[in-house]
Amino acid sequence: MQQNNFFPINCDANATFGVSSELVQELAAEAGSWGNPSSIHQSGQRARGIVEEAREIVRSTVGAGHRDTVVWTSGATEANNLIIRGFARLARHSVIVTSPFEHPSVIEVARQVGEQSGWSCRLIPARGHELDLDSLGEIVEGAGVISVMLANNETGYIYPIAELVQAVRRIAPGALIHVDAVQGIGRIPVKMADWGVDAVTLSGHKLGAFPGVGAAIIRAGIVVDGELLGGNQESGMRAGTQPVPAIHSLHRALSRFEEMGGVAGRAARMAANRAAFLEGLGPDIGVLTVPPALPTVPNTASIRFPGVSADYLVVAADLHGVLISSGSACSSGTQRPSPVLITAGLSEQEARETIRVSVTDSCDVENFWRAGQIVAECAGRLCRMVKSAQAEKSPFEER
Ligand code: PLP
Repeated sequence: MQQNNFFPINCDANATFGVSSELVQELAAEAGSWGNPSSIHQSGQRARGIVEEAREIVRSTVGAGHRDTVVWTSGATEANNLIIRGFARLARHSVIVTSPFEHPSVIEVARQVGEQSGWSCRLIPARGHELDLDSLGEIVEGAGVISVMLANNETGYIYPIAELVQAVRRIAPGALIHVDAVQGIGRIPVKMADWGVDAVTLSGHKLGAFPGVGAAIIRAGIVVDGELLGGNQESGMRAGTQPVPAIHSLHRALSRFEEMGGVAGRAARMAANRAAFLEGLGPDIGVLTVPPALPTVPNTASIRFPGVSADYLVVAADLHGVLISSGSACSSGTQRPSPVLITAGLSEQEARETIRVSVTDSCDVENFWRAGQIVAECAGRLCRMVKSAQAEKSPFEER
């Protein structure tokens, strides 16, 4: 079996993108500027400068308006909670609508808001990997809050946000609309203002920043109640000292990404890396679960290896220096097959045979080809092991 000399190769970037060593070195030199942004001395004001500049670049990254509010949070989970619970308090109608494909930090919050407030929580029906937009009329009628993701974290499928928002504005004009854009940002254009949505969520560690920072970007004029009691940071919407090192790293990661050709440049590099992985895998092994005719973010592929346990394959690939995942990072390790894949129509067995490959935009395309080859070899070996185990007769069967 081939060994990988450059490991680990991150083909699990949707779990976390990883921080480049250049960025760590660059930031280490500036660690002295990480004061408390609420302090009035110079160190505090330097930190405030970093935090405010970073808000600007986040606005431009998600296509927000100049006056839209960027609220720093600890990550996207907190941002989703803040927005959905906050919007539910502001909404004029007691119906919350989301999709069955959402991350748990959306779907569980929507369910809880429904249960605790006596609201009805409705799910837009699925049609395979897609949303059934034909049934939108009856689902969205009377909605107060709507939350739909931009790109799926497990399959990479891109939901038609512009079309969806247009339809929702016609059917439920007063609804507050939120888009969890975590897996779309930096991979495809994000157009908060053009879409006309009220809030967008971002996660720093999915973009090459340190973990510990996320953002709720909320349309100017909307003020949500904070979830935490404490100081008056973030215009009262999120108490607590801002995570300055993580915010600084996000600023640098987004600036670097602009210097390297922005979304188009990054998407092209990701697409090349994903294509190299699939080529390394070979033509006859693995089945793409999302039909190629459907749009996906350029870095993600959901691949099924019939007869091979995805969990075993993750471990085998890891031993050879390739990071992949079975389902999403937050649900892997659970016994349940992926609800996203089951909703899309896969059987439990098929879902358990499916891995997620999500590449970075690093320039070593050959490494991704090699990663594909390693995964193919691991899958082949596991498949042979299963077949030979099945061929051996169990002593119980002989009785
Ligand atoms: N939303 C989506 C679509 C995600 O993929 C994730 C993480 O995988 C989250 C939200 C939560 O992000 P965080 O890890 O920043 O809390």
